[in-house]
Amino acid sequence: MRKKIIAGNWKMNNSNSETNKLLRELKKNKFSDNKRVIVCPSFTQLSIAIEKLKNTEITVASQNIHFASHGPYTGEVSAAMIKNLGVFMTILGHSERRTFFYETDEILKNKVNTALKEEIEIIFCVGENLSDRKSKNHFKFVQSQLENSIFHLPGKSLQQIIIAYEPIWAIGTGETASPHQAQEMHSFIRNLIYKKYNQSISDSISIIYGGSVNPKNAADIFSKTDVDGGLVGGASLNPDDFAEIVRSI
Ligand code: PEP
Repeated sequence: MRKKIIAGNWKMNNSNSETNKLLRELKKNKFSDNKRVIVCPSFTQLSIAIEKLKNTEITVASQNIHFASHGPYTGEVSAAMIKNLGVFMTILGHSERRTFFYETDEILKNKVNTALKEEIEIIFCVGENLSDRKSKNHFKFVQSQLENSIFHLPGKSLQQIIIAYEPIWAIGTGETASPHQAQEMHSFIRNLIYKKYNQSISDSISIIYGGSVNPKNAADIFSKTDVDGGLVGGASLNPDDFAEIVRSI
């Protein structure tokens, strides 16, 4: 059975003291064993999170890595560097990276290959913008993102990836995909994996939803068969809200 997953993407937020406080509050909760809870602080807060969360079940992930192992890439951070800190998971392909930092499917394919070579698990984000949704091009768009960046992988490697469906029009906007819209896309993605790989791989891949998830709407979205959890931005900065979202799955 697929584990339920809730990941908090802190984006470019939280000072050292805010990180300490948030994690102190979060640690007061006991989450059940069949749930995987992940926090994704910015690079400078990763060591604090690793230290604070040792001996807990909460996983620490980065929000990005570079595709090269080292070299002249000013301002970038490699997979080996996060591993040095004890971090073995990263988000890749977040729409904010695609939009503001021009990360293309091809760049992301390289990052995916690097992460897997370094044995780093991936939360890989896909999702359409509003005009693609309005013109009913959203399935095709998401399919091309998957085909261009992760469907070259053998099945065993694909199983190191959690797919996050994050419609861009729902990220940070307060507007959420309806449970039906989320289920429709998640089942479409699972069926693509089934066609490209096989039943057991498609059954094993976790597909989580992201886009303005909050304590009020989480349970409805998570009740859908193919929604295995959530990638939570804004609401993950509040430990009570985040804990409630984890409890609602
Ligand atoms: C995200 O950053 O991945 C996200 C889904 O943000 P929010 O929950 O704030 O929409």
